Amino acid sequence: MGLSTSEQAAITSGSDFWHTEGVESAGIPSVTVTDGPHGVRMQASGEDMLAGVPATCFPPAVASASTWDPELLRRMGEALGDECRAQDVAVLLGPGVNLKRSPLGGRNFEYFSEDPILTGVLATEWVRGLQSRGVGASLKHFAVNSQETDRMRISADVDERTLREMYLRAFHKVVTRAQPWTVMCAYNKVNGVYASEHHWLLTEVLRGEWGFEGLVVSDWGAVVDRVAAIAAGLDLTMPGPDAAGDQALVEAVEAGRLDPAALDKSAELVRKLVEKAGDRPAGTYDADAHHALAREIAGRAIVLLKNDGDLLPLDGTQRIAVLGEFARTPRYQGGGSSQITPTRLDDALTEITAAVGDTTFAPGYTVQGEADEALLTEAVAAARNADVAIVFVGSVHETEGADRDSIDLPAPQLALIERVAAVNPNTVVVLSNGAVIATKPWDERVPALVEGWLLGQAGGSAIADVLFGRVNPSGRLAETIPVRLADHPSYLDFPGEHGHVRYGEGLHVGYRGFDARGQEVAYPFGFGLSYTTFGYGAAHASATTAGVEVRVPVTNTGGRDGREVVQVYVSRPGSKVRRAPRELKAFASVEIGVGDTTEVRLTIEREDLAYWDTRLGRWIVEDGEYLVEVGSSSRDVRASVTVHVAGDPARVPLTSESSVGEWMADPRGAEVLGAAFAAAAGQSEGLMASMTANPEMLMMLGSLPLSRMAAFPGSPLNAGDLEKLVEAAN
Ligand code: BGC
Repeated sequence: MGLSTSEQAAITSGSDFWHTEGVESAGIPSVTVTDGPHGVRMQASGEDMLAGVPATCFPPAVASASTWDPELLRRMGEALGDECRAQDVAVLLGPGVNLKRSPLGGRNFEYFSEDPILTGVLATEWVRGLQSRGVGASLKHFAVNSQETDRMRISADVDERTLREMYLRAFHKVVTRAQPWTVMCAYNKVNGVYASEHHWLLTEVLRGEWGFEGLVVSDWGAVVDRVAAIAAGLDLTMPGPDAAGDQALVEAVEAGRLDPAALDKSAELVRKLVEKAGDRPAGTYDADAHHALAREIAGRAIVLLKNDGDLLPLDGTQRIAVLGEFARTPRYQGGGSSQITPTRLDDALTEITAAVGDTTFAPGYTVQGEADEALLTEAVAAARNADVAIVFVGSVHETEGADRDSIDLPAPQLALIERVAAVNPNTVVVLSNGAVIATKPWDERVPALVEGWLLGQAGGSAIADVLFGRVNPSGRLAETIPVRLADHPSYLDFPGEHGHVRYGEGLHVGYRGFDARGQEVAYPFGFGLSYTTFGYGAAHASATTAGVEVRVPVTNTGGRDGREVVQVYVSRPGSKVRRAPRELKAFASVEIGVGDTTEVRLTIEREDLAYWDTRLGRWIVEDGEYLVEVGSSSRDVRASVTVHVAGDPARVPLTSESSVGEWMADPRGAEVLGAAFAAAAGQSEGLMASMTANPEMLMMLGSLPLSRMAAFPGSPLNAGDLEKLVEAAN
């Protein structure tokens, strides 16, 4: 491409915070990249890092994921693409697909779920939508960036099977299905190596195994050593400029410490990215239409957790007390790099008042969440005089850069709920939070509970839509609400110490862990009520070469049109490897009219049935019977069916270090070993005789590696024969 080494070095770091470096003489312009993910955060001035040009603040991922609707995510991506075009943005820095490992994760509001398949499917559509507008995505943060504590240095220590099946799975889905223009490496280390210098992650897995064609950009400030980063497969360091790093790259190439082809490849990927971005026509967008879309997604994201006696929806005739500062001053997004300056902002108080004509409002606590007895007394008095009390509470601080230290509501808000519920039996609690909040035991005191997440700029109107039944709720939990933080699978190993966090729960992230221990939860993964009810018929499942096709008839058995999120969980009873009791493999959000029945068809992708076999170093679909459970949540199975799936060949070669038990479990190995034993019978008394005479002895010896057995006195095997046996067995 005709760039000198120093020009190549220069374009592999940014020109400032939000632009790539151009090379005018080579016709390579500079392009703009910006955050992401739930709005376009174009920095308004050089001074204030966080104030952005007004843009639609769509619901953050905690909310959009609760829709369980890929189609909505695609429309959100398209709208974001249009806003990027209007602001001349080439790459939007999102989506964030890290797993929510702990409810304390400070950026949980920016991430989708504790489940990798739900995350991967939703994020894929978001990327497709965005990129359909000629704007690139940046899939982040690659990889295992599930906490904020010590985020720029901590090593996430995770075994390979867990890494592959849980923490990389969503990335894999999005990369292979949507080819994001860029992938953003994480700040943290993965098993001791900085993500920005992780050759295995960035080159072997991402490009080699998954076929990623785009560019790897660093998280802002994630690069420690430019030379090591380029050698590992990172292409673009942000922000820039980085004259010292550029110089280091040139020197490394000249001194033969860096393969010039590596720098050449990275510079070429920057050039290609800029070229692709050049195809993007300028555009405009309709701010009203985008606000309406933000409202639609927010309405679909709200999860109705409790609705005793069908208190909701409200019919608009009751006298309503609206309580809690968050009704007037909404919490609608988290802090940090994703923070958007909204084009406008709805609040629930205004919207509820508009729906009924008149309400009584009392803030109950201060905007900082502090207690104030006078405010509390005023709120209780308002509640006493109303037919229905709607209490708005939620988390006070949620931000990038810091994990939370508790999942409990602040004490003043708990006091507000308790005291209002004591005087008004028709109390509705509406939560605003970016990550789960403990609801036990106080939710037992109130008949209705609405999980309102952080809903973006139209959250206030969306909440009113649900409260008054203009929207029939269909949001579902994308993360488990535990009874206590201490019950959570991650509890003992979060957030680590002295530079390491051990992912001790392994595969049992989120609901997988709760289910494996049969533990009670407050509200399970996949849960959410509706103002109508749904009945399920018998499920059918058939295996194909591409996976498993599932069909189930679902009937709207209640009194309103509504939307059901049909969920398919799979287990493999008797599996040879450890597995969670139930794993989400497919889902569909379907609109069903009153009295109607829809046959819902879902596809389980074959690759999603596979586990990572650490002995073979590859994905294996186990042969055998799979239990397919179709339900309305992970703990509300409505129909189940068994299906036989033909497995992948998965023979592990036998060696002299394989145990007697492993040899005996392998048909060819058993034959070879049996013959060797038979040949030795008579010659070798001791061990052989006691082994055949005593089944317990045989059981004990099952774990003995062949080489060790051969070394025992009186063994039927000779060390010298092992090589021949191994050869014969394989
Ligand atoms: C965040 C990224 C973000 C980047 C640019 C970093 O601090 O981790 O998610 O895209 O800043 O603002």
